[in-house]
Amino acid sequence: MVLELPLVLIFLGPPGAGKGTHALPLSQKLKIPHISTGALFREHIKSQSPLGKIAKQYMNQGKLLPDELALKAVFERTSYPDCCRGYLLDGFPRTVAQAEELKPHLENCHLIAFFFDVPDSILIERITGRLVCKQCACSYHKIYDPPKQQEICDTCQGGLYVREDDREEVLRNRLEIYRRETAPLIDFYAEDLVKIDGKQTKSQVFQEVLSKLKTVTAPVSAAGAF
Ligand code: AMP
Repeated sequence: MVLELPLVLIFLGPPGAGKGTHALPLSQKLKIPHISTGALFREHIKSQSPLGKIAKQYMNQGKLLPDELALKAVFERTSYPDCCRGYLLDGFPRTVAQAEELKPHLENCHLIAFFFDVPDSILIERITGRLVCKQCACSYHKIYDPPKQQEICDTCQGGLYVREDDREEVLRNRLEIYRRETAPLIDFYAEDLVKIDGKQTKSQVFQEVLSKLKTVTAPVSAAGAF
């Protein structure tokens, strides 16, 4: 008998690499929760909670929230029963300190860290044209992936908006912080890393994710885990 370990996917990559775009459909396909720390913090900002007030100050400047706050938000969410088969972490961990804290929680899990590799020139173009749905967080691009109706989400008909931290001056700060704080995680997860060519089209990237996922989980999925 092969025991089915919970599957934990970590999505690594700079802002605009496609983490959020592919995290949602992949988590739906695998029937595991999509946990986006950015989305969790945006919910707090919307509800004007005490955490939301703090989060807003950091996020609007493109800065990372303190590790303790990100860790608290993630561990609270992963303690829900729907995470028992695994979960997909999008935008977490973002520092080596966060990854160190997460490590003991992943001891009995099947871990795969996807790294979405995209050159800076493409990232800036992608982010500054990004539109996000207020309701379901689906993202679009004004030129490369426009919604069918202007400013309306194709999936849920919610209104689309430009994220405050997607403005070019804030984005440059986010990219700098990514390089300094988050890029070292590529080495941290070297043993479990799966590199994806994130500059391909949306559907090509998704296909690459699926086919690499199939390869790395082959012994488990053969036993019926997915
Ligand atoms: P994202 O939606 O992943 O692009 O995240 C948006 C913003 O939320 C980031 O620029 C940070 O300000 C904050 N944030 C998201 N995840 C984390 C994290 N793991 N640690 C600290 N700050 C985070």
